[in-house]
Amino acid sequence: MGSKESVAILKGVGKQAVETLQEMKIETLHDLIMTFPYRHEDFQLKDLVDTPHNERVTVEGRVESEPSVLFLGKNKSRTQVRVLVGRHLIKAIFFNQPYVKAKLHLGEIITLTGKWDRGRQVITVSNHTIGPRTNGADFEPVYSLKGSIHQKTFRKLMRQALDLVKEDMEDCLPKVFVDAYQLAPIQEALEWVHFPPDGEKVKQARRRFVYEELLVFQLKMQALRKKNREEEGGSFIDYDLERLKIFIESLPFNLTAAQKRVVNEICKDMKEPFRMNRLLQGDVGSGKTVVAAIALYAAYTAGLQGALMAPTEILAEQHANTLEQWFRPFSLNIALLTGSVKGKKRQLILEQLANGEIDLLIGTHALIQPEVRFHKLGLVITDEQHRFGVDQRRVLKDKGYNPDVLFMTATPIPRTLAISAFGEMDVSVIDEMPAGRKEIETYWMKKEMFGKIVGRMEKELTAGRQAYVICPLIEESDKLDYQNAVDLFQQLSMYFKDRFTVGLMHGRLHSDEKEQTMREFSEGQIAVLVSTTVVEVGVNVPNASFMLIYDAERFGLSQLHQLRGRVGRGSEQSYCILLADPKTEIGKERMTTMTETNDGFVLAEKDLQLRGPGDFFGRKQSGIPEFKMADLIHDYRALETARKDAEKLISSEEFWHAEDMSCLRQQIEKSGILSGGRLD
Ligand code: ADP
Ligand code: MG
Repeated sequence: MGSKESVAILKGVGKQAVETLQEMKIETLHDLIMTFPYRHEDFQLKDLVDTPHNERVTVEGRVESEPSVLFLGKNKSRTQVRVLVGRHLIKAIFFNQPYVKAKLHLGEIITLTGKWDRGRQVITVSNHTIGPRTNGADFEPVYSLKGSIHQKTFRKLMRQALDLVKEDMEDCLPKVFVDAYQLAPIQEALEWVHFPPDGEKVKQARRRFVYEELLVFQLKMQALRKKNREEEGGSFIDYDLERLKIFIESLPFNLTAAQKRVVNEICKDMKEPFRMNRLLQGDVGSGKTVVAAIALYAAYTAGLQGALMAPTEILAEQHANTLEQWFRPFSLNIALLTGSVKGKKRQLILEQLANGEIDLLIGTHALIQPEVRFHKLGLVITDEQHRFGVDQRRVLKDKGYNPDVLFMTATPIPRTLAISAFGEMDVSVIDEMPAGRKEIETYWMKKEMFGKIVGRMEKELTAGRQAYVICPLIEESDKLDYQNAVDLFQQLSMYFKDRFTVGLMHGRLHSDEKEQTMREFSEGQIAVLVSTTVVEVGVNVPNASFMLIYDAERFGLSQLHQLRGRVGRGSEQSYCILLADPKTEIGKERMTTMTETNDGFVLAEKDLQLRGPGDFFGRKQSGIPEFKMADLIHDYRALETARKDAEKLISSEEFWHAEDMSCLRQQIEKSGILSGGRLD
């Protein structure tokens, strides 16, 4: 009997059941047995003496009284009986199951599961069986089911299916791994996960499936990485090391050790004929821009064009300004291209780009619009974007370019997520701040203290420094009771009248207005900038030393950290005030964590723990597949192991040719990942 056989052949599976199973993505016997329970209910017998109040417990006992039923109105009843459990005479209560009365006989042994009320010595029964405890029923799998299929029915189908195909199941894990990690063979693991003889076996089965799942996942990632790197036409950027050194010498500061390390990693990639696909992570203020500049300069010395892409016009312009300064002594021709560059100016840029007069193009995603053509594009760097989409890459490819790509992000991504969501990429990390930075002092305060907070802000302003005030909303909302930027802007303008200029910034302003305001802020004409989170990414105004965030509980830790990173960029002591009134314990913990650490990676790990992987990146775009069994937070060790094993396998001859690897190979092929498919 093959596992590809339809579930329709099982006893008790009619047309309707087939449809319901289909909704659960179960069509074949194989699909069925690979549908794992999401948890196991524990029915192990416990001693009541050891059972805490209100805990769920399973006990075996003898019926000591005639049961009595009390009807409490429509469909409601309460059946009660005395049971001797060990030396305890307790009361068992069954709600709304009047029929159990007929089944309970004096002197009979029964098994009960329910909540234990220690004070009243009562079990409120949720499950019961007449008769003593049956062997091998300590753990019951609970599946996530649809429609009218019940757990019991599902288990019966599972039993049939397992009996039919278990013996013929191929073990996809090569024996070397099964042996090395002492994993359960597939037959046993399947039996144990669906019909666990004890708790230990459940764990063992789980361990096996988790490893297998993560290994296959990482193999796909690594296979994709290999393919990306080796794809035809990958650029070989033969830069001029001597000129590069001169450029680095000319910079207004010395690179940190971490910056040097990542520059080396990137340069090494560029020199290789492979296509670079690298993620550069570095906390806010760690100095990623200069690393980008160095890489772009390297490409320039190799006679290739570079592109630097930012998510907003403000950021693009800021990069253009910074890079223009650094490149001033060198003869690079830099152009800025954003959506608001129009008409003749745009036309000229496009022409010069196509004929190679422009060496470096900085801009927003306007950079990869169809009409933008490069002469010889060698390197693309994206800043503060989680992903340079497959589509964007395709656009470039369709234009005949296959540049090296570097992604920069200031959102520290916990390692488990990084090697999952970005597993096909190489990762560089700047884990060190430039010297002389002062830690930002962070405080969590309540709104009642506003007067005091404004006083503190005023002190900074009087000393010639600047402040950000962040609000969750743009304008007043009927539905959400949060601070809005428009009102606060007016209030603060009144308050600071004639003393300090207040500016307003939010996403609904025209991009010209936004740019104008941002420019005035960065040139110091505006002292206080009231803004929504649009300032979150990348903006650099070193003179700003005070950050006030309204309704801080609304934001995720990583986002708060990004916002906070707008200050602390100069040599002065900076402050960040979180105004928050969190209602939940988790909310409080998040605020406390913010005040305790300035380390983005610590915060990211915490964020991941508190919010889970799905929320970390914001749902859909996460790029992290849903696992059947594995859990990225709890199974991170298995993930690391699988990652290492996958790396080794992919680069071995054995993996691509050996017989015992064929099952794993097929899984990669089936996923379509090597023919341009996406991970899911
Ligand atoms: P981010 O990584 O957040 O993009 P930036 O590249 O904007 O950080 O750098 C933050 C600030 O630190 C900038 O003003 C930059 O010029 C400065 N900087 C970068 N590297 C160094 C360094 N090695 N020594 C001193 N200052 C540096
Ligand atoms: Mg930056």
